[in-house]
Amino acid sequence: MEQLKKEPKTKKVLDKPSIYSFTLLELEKWLKEQGEPKFRSGQIFEWLYTKRVTTFEDMTNLSKELREKLANEFLFTTLKEVVKQTSQDGTIKFLFELYDGNSIETVLMRHDYGNSICVTSQCGCRLGCTFCASTLGGLKRNLEAGEIVEQVVHVQRALDETDERVSSIVVMGIGEPFDNYDELMNFLRIVNHDKGLNIGARHITVSTSGIVPKIYEFADEGMQINFAVSLHAPNTEIRSRLMPVNRAFPLPKLMDSIRYYIKKTGRRVTFEYGLFGGVNDQIEHAVELAELIKDIKCHVNLIPVNYVPERDYVRTPREQIFAFEKELKARGINVTIRREQGHDIDAACGQLRAKERKEETR
Ligand code: SF4
Repeated sequence: MEQLKKEPKTKKVLDKPSIYSFTLLELEKWLKEQGEPKFRSGQIFEWLYTKRVTTFEDMTNLSKELREKLANEFLFTTLKEVVKQTSQDGTIKFLFELYDGNSIETVLMRHDYGNSICVTSQCGCRLGCTFCASTLGGLKRNLEAGEIVEQVVHVQRALDETDERVSSIVVMGIGEPFDNYDELMNFLRIVNHDKGLNIGARHITVSTSGIVPKIYEFADEGMQINFAVSLHAPNTEIRSRLMPVNRAFPLPKLMDSIRYYIKKTGRRVTFEYGLFGGVNDQIEHAVELAELIKDIKCHVNLIPVNYVPERDYVRTPREQIFAFEKELKARGINVTIRREQGHDIDAACGQLRAKERKEETR
């Protein structure tokens, strides 16, 4: 089995960790080492995630000595907002600069049922999906949990101005979340904790391209997080062409891991299926897809893929999208077509970042 390429080593320039990287338990441990009572961790979480202060100095129910210790040991904000684009449909896209000069993007989407935020889990990506702009520069580095958490806190602060709330999170921005598993899990524990951002597990979705061993691990975590798999193909040949990860973790093994996940959690899985003109969008592909997933408790999300300037794929015509959906429905598959948002603001994954990078290198 072909292995994934090695993760690049990156030089760390942060001399202390971000406070947002710490779970409640980790903070308790640190406080204990300082001779402080356990309950202080709850107070710190409340300042960070409920009151959303921006300095340790603002944590006024902590002693001055503890506030100074916190400021000496931890960093507060490590993300710098450099671009904020608002679409006519209300979608807002943020481009953040990280402490080492790399950049990431975060998208806030408005739905009837609330505000959903799409976060980035890695700076770049090493998986090389052939339709994806985010992988063009390879993987620069993994994000730390705090850098993922901060994306949510930053957007929540923007929403505070209009008294709104981030009601759901999707981990579907740049990167493969399961390629940064430990930081992802800490992120999930922090945003899900009732003393943290208190976003219910059923309002959080993690999407993977199919890192099979991590799907087994995730199934065993016992969290009720929504789980999505970027399938994009009805058979292993087309999948390998679109997603090189399929050579490391072939489709039959992926389907086995998904069956295990469903058995273990009792939850259904969402299959993301991007429609690429002439590649995977014919009726015969719908028939093959229905056959592949017929015994799986699932939902299929059809994604009309935007034209990516750096890649050759073309958009599937509208009638073809509906015909594909109809065929799946006729075969008893639960399917919807994803509503597109932020058309006027480079809202497809990685496009804004790719554009900025191009401008940087001019
Ligand atoms: S689609 Fe996701 S997993 Fe694939 S290269 Fe892009 S960011 Fe990585």
